[in-house]
Amino acid sequence: MTVSATGAPVPDAGGVKHLDIAIVGAGVAGLYAVHKYRAQGCSVAAYEAGSDVGGTWYWNRYPGARIDVESAEYSYTFSEDLRREWRWTERYASQAELQAYLRFVADRLELRPHITFNTRIERILYDADRAEWTLYSSEGPLCRARFCVMATGFLSAPNMPNIPGIGDFKGEVHHTSNWPKTPVELTGKRVGVIGTGSSGVQLIPKVAEQAGTLTVFQRTANFCIPLRNQPLTDDYREYQAGTFPDWKEISTRSFGAFHYVNFELSEPNGHSALEASEAERIAEYEYRWNSGGLCYFTSYKDLMFDARANETLAEFVRQKVREKVTDPETREALVPRDHPIMAKRLCGDTNYYETFNLPHVTLVDVRKNPIDCISPAGVMAGGQEYPLDVLIFATGFDAGTGAMTRIDIQGRDGRTIREHFAEGPRNVLGMMAAGFPNLFIVDGPGSPGAFYNPILLSELHIDWFGRCIDYMRRNGFRTIEATEAAEAEWMSHSRDICDHSLFSKAKSWYVGVNIEGRKMGPQLYMGGITEYSRRLAAAEADGYAQFARGR
Ligand code: NAP
Repeated sequence: MTVSATGAPVPDAGGVKHLDIAIVGAGVAGLYAVHKYRAQGCSVAAYEAGSDVGGTWYWNRYPGARIDVESAEYSYTFSEDLRREWRWTERYASQAELQAYLRFVADRLELRPHITFNTRIERILYDADRAEWTLYSSEGPLCRARFCVMATGFLSAPNMPNIPGIGDFKGEVHHTSNWPKTPVELTGKRVGVIGTGSSGVQLIPKVAEQAGTLTVFQRTANFCIPLRNQPLTDDYREYQAGTFPDWKEISTRSFGAFHYVNFELSEPNGHSALEASEAERIAEYEYRWNSGGLCYFTSYKDLMFDARANETLAEFVRQKVREKVTDPETREALVPRDHPIMAKRLCGDTNYYETFNLPHVTLVDVRKNPIDCISPAGVMAGGQEYPLDVLIFATGFDAGTGAMTRIDIQGRDGRTIREHFAEGPRNVLGMMAAGFPNLFIVDGPGSPGAFYNPILLSELHIDWFGRCIDYMRRNGFRTIEATEAAEAEWMSHSRDICDHSLFSKAKSWYVGVNIEGRKMGPQLYMGGITEYSRRLAAAEADGYAQFARGR
């Protein structure tokens, strides 16, 4: 280690900080990393492009943005004090409340002095002689560090589609994942929204409340489930606090969320949907529909591995959609048909379908009438121009690898992460890549990512790296990195699971093909948290044999 015994950064002759650990990002993962590694006696600095903490909850401040797992399940678990002191007000917290929570955590744990805001990391270069990473902003070098922790998020790099004329539009343009801090004035305006994933489905009803006219350009109809958000009662808050130990235990073997069904902690159902009679299945699906939230993920064990099982739920939800939309043509366009349910993330719905019953809202099915181009006046689709004042892209993210490949990361011998991830996430356990020593990836590509609770996964990863750093200190290792053989084994295991699941049957960001020209392959690990945790523990227990260590 190269730092002072107190864990304070040591300045270079050139004014560049010299640290144990540099952290990129001050969202959910970055905040915990700062706290954890400081407590471990390391000198740390985090760099954040935004002007405040929050990560995804800082940038995605579009109208209607809120979490789709229950607030109590989206809370750090490492500190009893934090859990006791913070009071969520809604079952599903809004973006504003989530950011307030993360601000509270940063202040309560005194993390801000260790975070440099308004600083986007543009380059990260490895120096093999020193076994150190140097981080650069556009202004030049900021620090040198033995370890670099990428807390850059799974869904953070915006995806702007490659539509001809996109720069020609004369009105206002916004992307949901980079929404302005000052309110966007939509009252009485002609607004267009491209994209009907989770972001679009949350945004569209809110825009409809203000806009003069709203035109929604839909390529794929998604399955949307009522969220049934509501204020939290004291009784329910206490119930969730009291059941926290059981919830945490269930979360070690399931999704880490969706475990409160109809306001009761429930075990994931371990049975096949096909073992149940039709009446039992419908009763189960109705129960969950009335509960609200995306708890279908835990309703039967085979919904993502058996097409017939999946279809039972898909048809149940299609019928619900039909009951909500009045115009026959719009109704049929909104019924999802081209992918298994849950092979794309379910969308949490608050008045989404009902919005299309409003006279000033129009749905344009761009599968039937493809977008030709963006014109100076609006969107051209199927040969018709839709004039607009404001155009909103709810077109999602370059998920998984995008947050890292947008940074010029160069490892051993100048190999770039862009080259390394050219065919998708290539690493071990989604955490370390060959040729990128001491570069730790939190909640990143190849990890369970959105198939687990992002807060629990961040805690799992950051604690694991902390123990790895201790191991290296004790044993005199300067570097650790994945071996190519271990990478190949992990990727083949990950791909096998994806190929045998129904996730491979949808064109989604789960498998990378939401980005034009990308080959289909798993962006995240689909084998479940039980198997993932087993492998994580084994990787540590066998003395990091899957990793090359250097002195
Ligand atoms: P997304 O699910 O990838 O949806 C993007 C939408 O844009 C899709 O409807 C897509 O159509 C459409 N699109 C993309 N390019 C297009 C083009 N060239 N022409 C027409 N349509 C185009 O992105 P997202 O809605 O931002 O959500 C991403 C993920 O973020 C979610 O799955 C969820 O995990 C997370 N998220 C969570 C919350 C929450 O917690 N409440 C909220 C927002 C997002 P196709 O489907 O045809 O590709």
